[in-house]
Amino acid sequence: MNIIPRDQHCISRKHISDSALKVMSRLRKGGFQAYLVGGAVRDLLRGAHPKDFDVATDATPEAVNELFRNSRIIGRRFRIVHVRFGREIIEVTTFRGHHDSTPDTAQSKGASKHHSQQSASGLLLRDNVYGTLAEDAARRDLTINALYYDSEKFEVFDQVDGLEDMAQQQIRIIGDPDQRYTEDPVRMLRVLRFAAKLSFGIAPDTAAAIPRCAHLLEQIPSARLFDEFLKLFLGGYAAATLDQLIQHDLLRYLFPETCIALEEHPTGQALVEAAMVSTDVRIAADKPVTPAFILAALLWPVVDNAFQRRKAGDEPPMVAIHGAGQDAISAAAQHLSIPRRFSQPMREIWEFQLRLQRKTGRKALELLEHRRFRAAYDFLLLREQAGEETDGLGPWWTEVQTLSKPEREEKMASKGRRNRPGRNRTQRPKHTE
Ligand code: ATP
Ligand code: MG
Repeated sequence: MNIIPRDQHCISRKHISDSALKVMSRLRKGGFQAYLVGGAVRDLLRGAHPKDFDVATDATPEAVNELFRNSRIIGRRFRIVHVRFGREIIEVTTFRGHHDSTPDTAQSKGASKHHSQQSASGLLLRDNVYGTLAEDAARRDLTINALYYDSEKFEVFDQVDGLEDMAQQQIRIIGDPDQRYTEDPVRMLRVLRFAAKLSFGIAPDTAAAIPRCAHLLEQIPSARLFDEFLKLFLGGYAAATLDQLIQHDLLRYLFPETCIALEEHPTGQALVEAAMVSTDVRIAADKPVTPAFILAALLWPVVDNAFQRRKAGDEPPMVAIHGAGQDAISAAAQHLSIPRRFSQPMREIWEFQLRLQRKTGRKALELLEHRRFRAAYDFLLLREQAGEETDGLGPWWTEVQTLSKPEREEKMASKGRRNRPGRNRTQRPKHTE
């Protein structure tokens, strides 16, 4: 084990949240070990602000739970404890041991009933065997995520040459890549996510095993894949992450229909990329982003291809876009469980692309007041930016938003029906000739 003293690394307690320091000190007073671990140590070493602070300990989840009134045990696959301080949550994990070892290395009487389970194919289903710090380090995914900081002695513990990889700016999986991806295929997505986020390279062995193990991602439950999708695309590095996913051919495990549709959609890739860039820009500016918008973009090539086909088959446009959206969502849901609170707005964004074609009249005016107008308008601009032909709709909607209400009503009044009060839909004569 490599132990780096305080004068040889740049981590300072000043940059660690008080809550995390409190948790570690209380654990130590309770006779346990406690270290800051994972993303926080990695980010502190890079001089970045960690987004959250995770603590590793040799105390069992039950023991941690007993020490902190403001805590609860969560998780099944990995049981961890959340200690809450106002809006901040400190995640406390118990050192994990080797999943193939007997639980006698564990420190707790409860260990025997929380052992690990592997499926016939080697997938790790449960992993609640407790162990030592060294074992815990070996169980983590990447070397740069397996550094531990002791906030009492100010030392960094490095069991897996993580500091070396930090210095080399490289993502390396711990242990044998094929075995580690087989245990948990999501680690492949994590490799790409961190490579994108940190602008690090990927160690040759770590990258080489991806094509061999990629198919294992098919086994991942759609709910977990959706969680991972959120981390991949809403972490502020969606554009770079998309590049990595395409480069390593993993996008097709998240969005298989999109990958197929892109082959025949001339502007699809540009639209998806533009949506990623705009998401990253919004996150960097602290503006809100919704998964519905990104998903609407990622599935647009699928929707639009189907829409064009349906229209060519004589379906009325509104029916065609509705059906195309419906089908795209059902197909995507086979891999990613998209909650209804996102799929509904996605449908609205797509259908709005047709409704925005109506530039005049009462209905067009009402669109401006619709709660989905903003997202749909932004989406329209991205389609134009990607090179889709929309007959100048974007500039039209941009302009009308700058007008005062009377100016707007004048500009958008429907032609031929102006100044004809007293007429309504039922009285209007049919245009026959
Ligand atoms: P972020 O800044 O994105 O939160 P993080 O490194 O903290 O990065 P988390 O997903 O919060 O990432 O995970 C916390 C730690 O748990 C990781 O640093 C890693 O050590 C470990 N870990 C997470 N997922 C896995 C996994 N699938 N296999 C092995 N270890 C994992
Ligand atoms: Mg984290």
